[in-house]
Amino acid sequence: MKLRLRCLRCLPGIALPFVMSTRLSAQESEPVCPPPVLTRLVSHRVAPGETVESIARQYNLIPATLMGLNPGLRSGQAIVGTKIVIPPYNGVRVEVARGQSLRDLAAIYQVRADVLFEVNGCQTAPKVVFVPGVNWSPTGSVAGTIQPDRPTQLTGYPLPTIAPLLLGYGWQVTPTTGAFAFQSGVDLSAKVGTPVLAAGNGTIAFAGAEGSYGNLVVINHQGGWQTRYAHLATVNVTPGQQVKVGQVLGTVGTTGKLSSSAPHLHFEIRSASKLGWVANDPTPFIKDMQIRNRELNKETSRKVYTRHRKGEASGQ
Ligand SMILES: [Zn+2]
Repeated sequence: MKLRLRCLRCLPGIALPFVMSTRLSAQESEPVCPPPVLTRLVSHRVAPGETVESIARQYNLIPATLMGLNPGLRSGQAIVGTKIVIPPYNGVRVEVARGQSLRDLAAIYQVRADVLFEVNGCQTAPKVVFVPGVNWSPTGSVAGTIQPDRPTQLTGYPLPTIAPLLLGYGWQVTPTTGAFAFQSGVDLSAKVGTPVLAAGNGTIAFAGAEGSYGNLVVINHQGGWQTRYAHLATVNVTPGQQVKVGQVLGTVGTTGKLSSSAPHLHFEIRSASKLGWVANDPTPFIKDMQIRNRELNKETSRKVYTRHRKGEASGQ
């Protein structure tokens, strides 16, 4: 069985440059993956007149990438005759700590876990990995990785009540196919027809049918955040429309390619990056939303109660 593992749910035009096809069924576990980046380093001998900068330029890299991979260059001097290694693109070499997973590293360096998995040859427990797009820094801290702020603008829960989680984010065995696939969001169990609510204020970036997503609504929020609501039965919004948190976007449906047979809302939280809209694990945010949602409900019921009391007092 051939699967495009990574972009099961990517919009056209924002797919990442790494496309993976793989065979990973129970019988034939033979992933078709490029060899790990760290096994594809090119050797370069420093010639007279060359500098760290000129070598980097020659390979379309930044000097920090070469300095990170070649401790001999860290003084900023390229000594003629020394052999250095050149990676195919910018990034850092990271030793994986005991007990650390690719998912942990992906969170630390803000790289997609599936991208990390693929550029490192689809190894499940590598000891050393190459993290693409991250700058080496002499202080040991890694420059160029901006931990996105928690999306405080996403205060709403995407459904009227807290829903059971059918399928989590990340590498999962898809219940309907039994295949190992990257789930770019969470599947929240909900009955067909349940209103789907905006998780925050924003602008509708997309509303309509979109491949395996089925009927999809995409909201762009302030601060480089995006939320996606998939498999909808009906869509109530149009692109360009401004929406408020809690506004009804449509209803839960079973359109598109479902990863669970039970009806659900497929919900994603993405953040803008150089690689496009990168899917984040919504689980921590969902928890946060649940707490805020409860507080909001408490507040609402308190208001309703107060109003009711007032009504009683004035004899209405
Ligand atoms: Zn899903």
